[in-house]
Amino acid sequence: MRCVLNYKWTFKRIIFSYFKKHLCPNCKERLKVIWINRVINKKSPDARNHDFSSFNSYFFGDVKFFWNEFKCKKCGKIISAEDLYNIEKENNDQYNRDELY
Ligand SMILES: [Zn+2]
Repeated sequence: MRCVLNYKWTFKRIIFSYFKKHLCPNCKERLKVIWINRVINKKSPDARNHDFSSFNSYFFGDVKFFWNEFKCKKCGKIISAEDLYNIEKENNDQYNRDELY
């Protein structure tokens, strides 16, 4: 039996993504927030990276997830908010500890 497709929107690091300016780690061009969507099955290995909880229960089967990542217009690089956060945090640790957020 085919499961009904559910949808879930997730904001990743919303303040970091929407209220700060970010530069591409490759070419230093300004990054733009984009929305990614992907169907993930609860039983697939990818499922552990996604939150299947719903308002009062859990989703089963296929869920279409939407989440924000960054894209560089110049070189086309797509980077997750988590990865970019870690890169910037590392750079800040090296150069300026006061700039951490
Ligand atoms: Zn770039």
